[in-house]
Amino acid sequence: MKPIIITVDGWSSCGKSTMARQLARELSYVFIDSGAMYRAITLFFIRHQVDLNDPQSIVAALSKIQLAFHLNPINGNNEIWMNGENVEASIREMSVAQMVSQVAAIKEVRAFAVAQQQQIGSNKGIVMDGRDIGTAVFPEAELKIFMTASIPVRVQRRYQELLPKHPQITMEEVKENLENRDYLDSTRSISPLRKAEDAMVLDNSHLTQEEQLALALSWAREKINH
Ligand code: C5P
Repeated sequence: MKPIIITVDGWSSCGKSTMARQLARELSYVFIDSGAMYRAITLFFIRHQVDLNDPQSIVAALSKIQLAFHLNPINGNNEIWMNGENVEASIREMSVAQMVSQVAAIKEVRAFAVAQQQQIGSNKGIVMDGRDIGTAVFPEAELKIFMTASIPVRVQRRYQELLPKHPQITMEEVKENLENRDYLDSTRSISPLRKAEDAMVLDNSHLTQEEQLALALSWAREKINH
């Protein structure tokens, strides 16, 4: 059977990575979290105090960033490494979440990340999640999924996820971050977040993880068998 490319785009915190990771596992495909790349770049910019208004500093900083995904044999996840360091946990910090959408709107940053995403997907057999994967990175992908969920559901999910590490965090802060990122992601001039015309919509507000996976798997198998 010929491997295909599956793209999973959508709003912040609607469970794209969870679903995409499970889908990849079921199909024995590679899972790539493209948001992790923008988060890692943001982490580097924070650590090195890169001026976001200075394109020269941005280009110089990008030339020093090496990103790679490696399988963690303990949890079976494909984790992101930056310059030889596993940054999977550090990129989930609130400081990164607060700046990532600004960084991801920068032309040079997008060109850097998209080129690597296209290279990783060149052999197909991949599920990649993000914001512009079906519209800009792989516009020819065989299956495009656009995920969404209601704001209260998304806030609740992200809040539960952050709480163990950030006991001080409030629902209001989480909601503000989600809405702010969604606003920036969907209004930026380069590859804004939008549903590809040929994408299947998956609203998981009232679906369990098993139900959403079953739905996505049925779409994937239909494409793969054709
Ligand atoms: O998927 P995640 O929420 O981790 O992505 C973090 C941020 O990276 C998003 O809010 C968005 O600003 C940016 N992003 C993007 N394009 C992608 C994936 C993520 O602009 N393909």
